[in-house]
Amino acid sequence: MIDLHSHTNASDGTLSPTQLIALAQQQKLEALAITDHDTFEGYDDALPLAQAAGLDLVCGIEVSTRFRAKSVHLLGYFLNGNPSEDFRTWLLLLQESRRERNKEMVVKLNAMGIGIKLAEVEMLGRSITGRPHFARAMVQQGYCKTTEEAFKTYLGEGARAYVERREIMLPDAIALVRESGGVPVLAHPIRLGKEDRTIEEKWISEIADAGLLGLEVFHSDHAPADVERYQRYTRKLQLAPTGGSDYHGDNKPDIQLGEGRKKNLNIPFAVLQNLRDSFPNQ
Ligand SMILES: [Zn+2]
Ligand SMILES: [Zn+2]
Repeated sequence: MIDLHSHTNASDGTLSPTQLIALAQQQKLEALAITDHDTFEGYDDALPLAQAAGLDLVCGIEVSTRFRAKSVHLLGYFLNGNPSEDFRTWLLLLQESRRERNKEMVVKLNAMGIGIKLAEVEMLGRSITGRPHFARAMVQQGYCKTTEEAFKTYLGEGARAYVERREIMLPDAIALVRESGGVPVLAHPIRLGKEDRTIEEKWISEIADAGLLGLEVFHSDHAPADVERYQRYTRKLQLAPTGGSDYHGDNKPDIQLGEGRKKNLNIPFAVLQNLRDSFPNQ
């Protein structure tokens, strides 16, 4: 079993890189990819530990992009070779835009009588501070009972203190990942939210035309019928299938590393082997 989608506390997961590697060993994973949002810090810290443990660790990243007026997540794999100067600059810009957004959210929350300070929220994150850290600070200070409530009332898309992030266009992000020697993969396609499967297929084929190389077929949020449909798209559009649990530790407690939600995942090592064989130069 492998897991090609996981988060450490360098972004919005709750386990440190050390703890995540220990968990991967406990789960007897044959390979693990760390795909933190906007940062390689978790992967960088985990690499020596994984090597010592004999765990096959894959370098990954997850970024938010814009496609057809929606926020769409793109995964990039194998960027550890030598991410281009442009790519690193881009990551710095992403981090800067996150900081700007966090400041704006604090202003909005304060105006609603929620007296949290940015420094308090930042203390809960490592390098990347995001909405889950806001939610935790709000629970700790008694403004909300649960982090779910914080998202529902204040932080979620469209909620009272929500601030949209400036995002890169999806085709530009795909190009940047490829220029950096990485393999761009569309994350959890179910979240495109297209109930009409004809439109869903049209969108994914449009993204494939922009240079996408893989599709996240296996994911905790995918029902068996979704997996089957995405498998079909990969064959039709010549995309490599990938998959992972999207593990976030206690921030998403119903998802287990490797096993997904209610053990709906069991991704074979062959999926990673195929990805490596298909893009030897990436
Ligand atoms: Zn995502
Ligand atoms: Zn993710």
